[in-house]
Amino acid sequence: MATLGTGRQARRPKGRASERARLEGAASRVEVPPACDVCVVGGGAAGLVAGIVAAEAGARVVVLDRGAECGRTILATGGGRCNLANRDLAASRYVHPGFVAQAMGADPLARVLAFFEESGLFLTEEEGRIYPKSLSAASVRDVLVSRALRAGATLAPLRETRLVRRVAGARATDGSAGGLEVAFDELWAGGGWRSLRAGCVVLATGGTSSTARVGAAGRGTAQGAASHRLELEGLDVPRVPLEPVLCPLASDLAELACLDGRRVRCVATLERDGKPLMSEAGEALFRAHGLSGIVSFDLSRKAKAGDVVALDLVPGVAEGDVAASIRRLGARVALDGMLDPEISVVLASMRQGAAPTARLAKRFEVPVTGLAETERAQVMRGGISVDALSPETLEACGEPGLFACGEAVDVDGPCGGYNLAWAWMSGMAAGSAAAREAKSKADAGEEGLGGRP
Ligand SMILES: Cc1cc2nc3c(=O)[nH]c(=O)nc-3n(C[C@H](O)[C@H](O)[C@H](O)COP(=O)(O)OP(=O)(O)OC[C@H]3O[C@@H](n4cnc5c(N)ncnc54)[C@H](O)[C@@H]3O)c2cc1C
Repeated sequence: MATLGTGRQARRPKGRASERARLEGAASRVEVPPACDVCVVGGGAAGLVAGIVAAEAGARVVVLDRGAECGRTILATGGGRCNLANRDLAASRYVHPGFVAQAMGADPLARVLAFFEESGLFLTEEEGRIYPKSLSAASVRDVLVSRALRAGATLAPLRETRLVRRVAGARATDGSAGGLEVAFDELWAGGGWRSLRAGCVVLATGGTSSTARVGAAGRGTAQGAASHRLELEGLDVPRVPLEPVLCPLASDLAELACLDGRRVRCVATLERDGKPLMSEAGEALFRAHGLSGIVSFDLSRKAKAGDVVALDLVPGVAEGDVAASIRRLGARVALDGMLDPEISVVLASMRQGAAPTARLAKRFEVPVTGLAETERAQVMRGGISVDALSPETLEACGEPGLFACGEAVDVDGPCGGYNLAWAWMSGMAAGSAAAREAKSKADAGEEGLGGRP
């Protein structure tokens, strides 16, 4: 036994090391051309779709990603099942709904479904949430990667983009802009610092790296936070500071220690100064230091320290009926009939009497002290300001040839497939507009673009 254990421990790191070596070998064999029409920075959900759409429109596309493989971020979504869209993709579910409505255009769901069906992905639906039929996020990633390769895009992983800037002197006299230079680091032993020229650049770096340094004025200037590693040199792209959303809520309510790990189907209402701000129905997960689960994630989009979450633990049951049942059977037995027994123990111990206990079941108050586990938030709010972008094309106003999509843009929605739907839709809009613009630049023979063979 001891030998087996030691052997396993010894083999695991070696397995990881050889996998890394394999991926580094594969990445280093990808040839990145010195020039292309459209360079997509970030090959996650939005970037892959932008790359596919641009390449299918005839553009020469390079997708640079700092990860070991493009599309890896998709694998963790939906608990590995990838909830890729929602039956109700109303723009009102997002921040900046007016912008989102214009950017997503008419009938976004039909276009998302058609895109994936054309990619060869079979789909299924659960309570309005759309998943791959395989219930495996890997299916989504795989069909996107293979469609991008079929379309002729160069997928170049292990390349971390550090700098995007306009090629010196390339702004044409007619006011249109020439090419952009994209400088990146090859992230393998012996890899170096490289750059390419592109007619257009699509920023699709997601929420965590958040694309660029934020200067004092919220611009893409050089004096920004050191943690942001991609600099948009000289490019005027206003951005909004980042904040995590879709994460648990923190609370110091003492009873939570006894409820840790219990789940309940409930209606949760976020209240500020005694007034309701929003309600969500669904599953809440009690944690010792707060509330998790999908409803809490959704409330985290608006919650602040000082708010209260009022949980209706028995939705659909009238308070009077709960009280009557308690009078007839006693609190423990009555509540056991409606709730997880561990939760009913806590409720029964908190109040004396049928009416107060029934009230507690209908309104269990959890004071909010802030957000929790923010380092694992599903989405970052903030990024490139929607005011800086054309809603139709997602091109930066005043910076021709520079586009953005996905979570790099200051757009977020609730749980349920909304954020990936935005990634796909915005990727399609940016990718097709970038291809159009790159083609018109190439036709005009602008500097910075390699000619077509
Ligand atoms: C655990 C988890 C589960 C989720 N589940 C769901 C779900 O089921 N449904 C849903 O709708 N949403 C879900 N989301 C949110 C969803 O994953 C994101 O909104 C979506 O992936 C955003 O797509 P994106 O392409 O903008 O960013 P990402 O998918 O994050 O891709 C960004 C890419 O850019 C690359 N990159 C970043 N910086 C650089 C750089 N400087 N140079 C080169 N490459 C760079 C990264 O490596 C990455 O591949 C989940 C999020 C998390 C964290």
